[in-house]
Amino acid sequence: MAEAPLIDAFARLHDNLRISVTDRCNIRCFYCMPEDGVKFMPREEILSFEEIARFARVAVSLGVRKLRITGGEPLVRKDLPVLIEKLTAIPGVEDIALTTNAVLLADQAEDLYRAGLRRLNVHLDTLDRARFAHITRRDDLPKVLAGLDKAQALGFGPIKINAVAVKNLVEPDIVPLAQFGRARGIEIRYIEFMPLDAQGLWDKGKVLLQDDMLRLLAEGIGPLEEIPDRDPRAPASEFRFTDGLGRIGFISSVSHPFCLNCNRIRLTSDGKLRYCLFAIEETDVKGLLRSNASDDAIRATIRETVARKWIGHEINTQKFVAPPRPMYSIGG
Ligand code: SAM
Ligand code: SF4
Repeated sequence: MAEAPLIDAFARLHDNLRISVTDRCNIRCFYCMPEDGVKFMPREEILSFEEIARFARVAVSLGVRKLRITGGEPLVRKDLPVLIEKLTAIPGVEDIALTTNAVLLADQAEDLYRAGLRRLNVHLDTLDRARFAHITRRDDLPKVLAGLDKAQALGFGPIKINAVAVKNLVEPDIVPLAQFGRARGIEIRYIEFMPLDAQGLWDKGKVLLQDDMLRLLAEGIGPLEEIPDRDPRAPASEFRFTDGLGRIGFISSVSHPFCLNCNRIRLTSDGKLRYCLFAIEETDVKGLLRSNASDDAIRATIRETVARKWIGHEINTQKFVAPPRPMYSIGG
């Protein structure tokens, strides 16, 4: 008998699973990780590829159709293409994507492509080498650009760029990134700075807001219009330039929260299931995976977690409490 889909108490259908494969990273974006002294999870706490693939298979039996691999930096996990191959082989998976900083992409792109991966979200905040080094504390912009070149040459697509929007910092980057996207056929997605940084640097005054970015883009390039008839459950609001060249997306968790459309659950690299990026609680599934629990037991745990899902984060209220894990450890 077919399983009932994952619908929560607010009638939201969950068909999207984000899988973090590591909490480690090869760069140190200040809004995500501290510069030094990061404590990473011991290797034995991290799910194996077999454990991840089994969990994904069970989630797919509950109606999950889209998978996204993230981290930390997923490309620092050894042999990632082996996992991609396992996941693309699961019947019912319709879409698989990777979120990466692309520092190692040029080296791994061919193997990833061969494993069946096509969709990439590349994290890049600036095309200015000095500002890149300031934000990430590593001088790796040339490697990221080489990774993008290689991925486009191999035929990956769609490729999107994720840029984190921090006020009084990246304003000079908004227009050049959009121009880069227009020239290369890449959608740029600006992500409002969220309170998930390891050092507690966030406050609302440091968020460069969607409306301010729209104004910068309209002044610097030309008019934009909202794209009509989009999937109402997609997190980004999307715009196009009216000259027909280029798309822009905004993930505006602060100024335009989209919790009511959320279709996502998240598996952390150490095997915790989360119903929200900002959730305070999480459910252990590693214990189940490592104790020969049945698929039914895992299905029941996924259902219970979705059933407990809250209506949404409270970033804009006094009630907001930052989650106990920073972004790199949850999986963005
Ligand atoms: N390392 C990969 C990367 O950077 O794309 C994958 C993991 S990273 C945590 C996922 C996404 O989170 C990145 O694309 C980055 O843009 C975003 N991110 C990290 N810290 C953030 C923050 N404090 N606010 C908003 N977005 C953030
Ligand atoms: Fe690493 Fe991604 Fe976090 Fe930057 S945002 S420190 S690339 S995990």
